[in-house]
Amino acid sequence: MKHVEHIGIAVKDLGSSIAMYTKLLGAEPYKKEEVISEGVMTVFFDAGNTKIELLGATREDSPIAKFIEKRGEGIHHIAFAVDNIREKIQEKTAQDFALINSEPKDGADNKLIVFLHPKSTGNVLVEMCEEKG
Ligand code: ZN
Repeated sequence: MKHVEHIGIAVKDLGSSIAMYTKLLGAEPYKKEEVISEGVMTVFFDAGNTKIELLGATREDSPIAKFIEKRGEGIHHIAFAVDNIREKIQEKTAQDFALINSEPKDGADNKLIVFLHPKSTGNVLVEMCEEKG
C-alpha cells in the first residue's frame, strides 16, 4: 500500500456538508462525480497530501443511505493508493483479509477500486484504489 489517497465521509446533505468543508479546508471542491452503479454522488476536496471524498446517497437503497441509517454520518472509508490492484487483491486474500468485491470496480475520480470487509480490518472499511491509466 502507498499513501492515504483519500478519506471517504458519508453525509446526509451534500449541500450543507460542501459548505462546511469549504469553510473548514479553505477551498472549494474541485470535482463532483456521480457513481450511478453505487447510488452515490461524490464531491472531492484537495486536502494537501490527501483528498476528502464526500459521499451522498442518490437513492434509498444506496450503500451510503444504509450506512448512515445504521451508523450515522461520519468517516465511511479510508482509501490507500496501490500500483497494481489485481496483485494486491491476491496478496490481501492470501493474507486472509475478506474482500467485499474480488474484481476491481470503476470508482469515482478515474480509479479502479476494491473494498476490504470491515470484519477483517478492525471495523474500518478499507479501499484500495489504482489510478486508471
Ligand atoms: Zn473512496
